[in-house]
Amino acid sequence: MVLVYQVLSGLYSFMESINEIDELVKIISRLPGLGPKSAKRIILKLINNRDELMKPMTKVLGEVYKNISRCNLCGSLRSNDNCKNCSFSSKKSKKICVVENIADQWSIENSNIFDGYFHILGGTVNSSGQRKEDLLINALVARVKKDNIEEVIIATSATVEGQTTAYYIQESLKEIGVKISKLAQGLPIGGEIESLDDGTLFSAFKNRTGLNSESD
Ligand SMILES: [Zn+2]
Repeated sequence: MVLVYQVLSGLYSFMESINEIDELVKIISRLPGLGPKSAKRIILKLINNRDELMKPMTKVLGEVYKNISRCNLCGSLRSNDNCKNCSFSSKKSKKICVVENIADQWSIENSNIFDGYFHILGGTVNSSGQRKEDLLINALVARVKKDNIEEVIIATSATVEGQTTAYYIQESLKEIGVKISKLAQGLPIGGEIESLDDGTLFSAFKNRTGLNSESD
């Protein structure tokens, strides 16, 4: 009861530390955009709402941990072995949009400007050691061949790493003769896809440029 009182009244910071809570603060502080202070606020909220928040969150997190993984064909998230992202759908056009990460896929999906498939590379080539072999480029080539894809839209960031990666993708697809295009106007130099607003993204999609002769 003493803990509950202190937690409810926001006095936790004056209390002696509790191991479980310290551990949780450390973990939550590692999430994007959160430091120890916001971690403590989140934990207080959870403790003060044990049944409404903490219990369902524990359950759902357990299920996500058990069931959700990255699909090794398209790089997106799948539940159990069922990947909705790369399995055939008559509603989708025969186009693949290649992005760096899942947050990019979500941004493009939310803007409703693309009705084809997504391929998530898992990053870009970069100076900290990620090589093109570490990205799902070979899997992309296999998908394009297998699913008779008509256009590959490269939507990597307008950074040196993003554009170098785009070049490698273009080279890898050269032999297949598929139409390849790349997001262009509207993308700010140095801009990351996930941080763009819908209008900019829409313009970049509409004005994408062809990268090979098949694009004309
Ligand atoms: Zn998949």
